[in-house]
Amino acid sequence: MTLDSQFIKSCANSVGFHDCGIAQARRLDDFDATLSTWLSHRYNADMQYMQRNADKRGDPQLLYPGAKSVISVLLSYKPSRTVEGPHKIARYAYGDDYHLVIKRMLFQMITLIKERYPDFNARPFVDTAPISDKRWAAAAGLGWIGRNTLLISPTYGSFCNLGELVSDSPVDAYDSPLPNGCGSCSLCVKSCPNQALQCVEGRYMLDAAKCTAYNTIENRHDSLPDSQRLAGYVFGCDICQEVCPHNADTLAAVQVSDEKISSLQQLASADESSFDDATRDTPLSRISYSQWVRNLKQDEPSTPPQP
Ligand code: SF4
Ligand code: SF4
Repeated sequence: MTLDSQFIKSCANSVGFHDCGIAQARRLDDFDATLSTWLSHRYNADMQYMQRNADKRGDPQLLYPGAKSVISVLLSYKPSRTVEGPHKIARYAYGDDYHLVIKRMLFQMITLIKERYPDFNARPFVDTAPISDKRWAAAAGLGWIGRNTLLISPTYGSFCNLGELVSDSPVDAYDSPLPNGCGSCSLCVKSCPNQALQCVEGRYMLDAAKCTAYNTIENRHDSLPDSQRLAGYVFGCDICQEVCPHNADTLAAVQVSDEKISSLQQLASADESSFDDATRDTPLSRISYSQWVRNLKQDEPSTPPQP
C-alpha cells in the first residue's frame, strides 16, 4: 500500500496542523556524529536520558521495525500578544500542554487516513520518545535548523511545536530538506545572555547547562548557578527566537485573551495551591512550586552593595 502524500498532508491540514512534510524512514545523515559531539562536550548537563537510546534517536527503524515514512507535522504557537512584566514566561507555555494537544491531533489524523486506507498503521510521537522532532521536521522539508538550534520554518518561523507519525507504509512522493536560510546572521548567538550557543566544528550547539530554558525547567537543584542570567525569564526563554528575523513577520496563530494574560501575571504572587491549580495540564506543570519560587528569586535584581 503506497499512500498518496497529498492526501496525507490534507489530513494534517484538516485536523489543524499548519504544515506537514514527509521523509523516508532511514538513519538521519550526520545525526550520530552531531549527537556524539554534543554529548562529548557534556552539553546535555543533567539530562542523562539523552545518552540512553542514542542509536534509536537517529534511526526510526530501530524504534519501529518496518518503518517506511516519517510524517512530520508543525503547529505554530505564536501568540497574538505577549505577557509583559518583570517575570516572563516562554510563549509555548501560554496554552495547554502541547504534548497532549498534538498527540490528540495525530490520533485524529490517523482516523482520517484510515477512512481511505483502513490498513494504515502509524505510531504518533511528540517529544516523548527517543526521536528528534526538529531533525525529522528538517528532513521532511518543513524548515532548517537555525543557529539557535531550533527548526526555522520559512513560513511560520520558530515558534512552532512539532510531532510525527512513523508509518510502515511508503508514500508516493517524499519531501526534500530546504537550504539553510540563516545566511550570515548570528543575532541569536550574540543575543544570548549566557553564551549558551556554542560553535563546535562549524555548527552551533546548545550548551544546556548555560541555557535559561534548561535551567528554569529541567534543572532540579535547589538553586541555580550564580552566573545564570535569566534576563527576565522565569520559565523557559525566548530571547534567541525574539531576535530572529524569520519570526518578525509571521502571523500569530493563537489569540491570547486578557484573562489569560492576567492569570499568567498573577502566578508571580501565587501560593503553592493556586500555582498548582493554574498550571495543571499546561507546560508550566513540568516544574514544581519550589522550582518556580527558586526561578523568581534568581530573576530578582541583586541588591547593590552599600557604600
Ligand atoms: S533560550 Fe535563552 S539562554 Fe537558551 S540559548 Fe536561547 S537565548 Fe540563550
Ligand atoms: S537569528 Fe539569525 S542566525 Fe539565528 S536562527 Fe535566526 S536567522 Fe539563523
